[in-house]
Amino acid sequence: MKIMDIADKEVTFYEIDVTDSQAVDIIFRNYKIDGVIHFAGLKAVGESVEKPLEYYYNNIVSTMVLIKACKKYGVNRFVFSSSATVYGDNKVPFVETMDLLPTTNPYGETKAMSERILTDIVNANPAFSVSILRYFNPVGAHKSGQIGEAPNGIPNNLMPFITQVAKGKLEKLRVFGDDYPTVDGTGVRDYIHVVDLAEGHVAALENLTAGIHVYNLGTGKGTSVLELVKAFEEANDIEVPYDIVARRPGDIASCYADASKAEQELGWKAKRNLVAMCRDSWRFEKNFKG
Ligand code: UDP
Repeated sequence: MKIMDIADKEVTFYEIDVTDSQAVDIIFRNYKIDGVIHFAGLKAVGESVEKPLEYYYNNIVSTMVLIKACKKYGVNRFVFSSSATVYGDNKVPFVETMDLLPTTNPYGETKAMSERILTDIVNANPAFSVSILRYFNPVGAHKSGQIGEAPNGIPNNLMPFITQVAKGKLEKLRVFGDDYPTVDGTGVRDYIHVVDLAEGHVAALENLTAGIHVYNLGTGKGTSVLELVKAFEEANDIEVPYDIVARRPGDIASCYADASKAEQELGWKAKRNLVAMCRDSWRFEKNFKG
């Protein structure tokens, strides 16, 4: 596995379905587990509208199966991958103390529900330490170019779409709307380098204390679609042709984090800038044979 090359460590890997409680039980029975980071889940907004049952089943049941195994085997430390979509169309910057607004799709709802389930479980079991990490828009790749994002089929997300256009695999980027109330009319998001995001998990696990904790993992900076395209072109000296098309249903104008809580409480802050994100995404795509 590439992870072993990069980390220069043995990593034990089981390919199981996390909704399969028996398979999960066997692993918990056979190891002394210090903590769980629960990343497993389906994650495409558009697809979740087409396949709500798969999304609710996979994303909710996996969370319940894992936390149940934690309870049974006395594993008290749990880190959960949530998403900025739980904020709904709130006022930017999004801050952890905000009331959550309704989510606009089943994917977001699975994250909001998982957060509520975990919160109720922690309230009833004070020994649990749970950290909920709300991801903003992860992009980039490991700098080795070995691990990165390789979506099945046509990408839904902006950065893999851009890299595939740059590679010539796709003809043109479609920019979804240029009439939002933003700097240039295109949607604004908080892009975060995936290695910063990974380091955020380490910080969350190392600083876990009893109770439920929620952290935004973002940079705190908003970037528009056209700003990202320009940054990518400049960082990699390559053109990304695009057309402006209609807005994508369910998109909001702006989404970026107030990232101060994670810095204050976890001592974690995103370090890698947009140039690094664009270069690393492109290095991975160029190397990727798929
Ligand atoms: N976007 C776009 N063209 C694409 C994919 C995305 O213009 O092919 C825009 C989208 O409308 C949003 C931003 O890029 O403003 C980020 O979208 P993405 O799907 O990557 O992440 P989301 O914020 O929706 O989770």
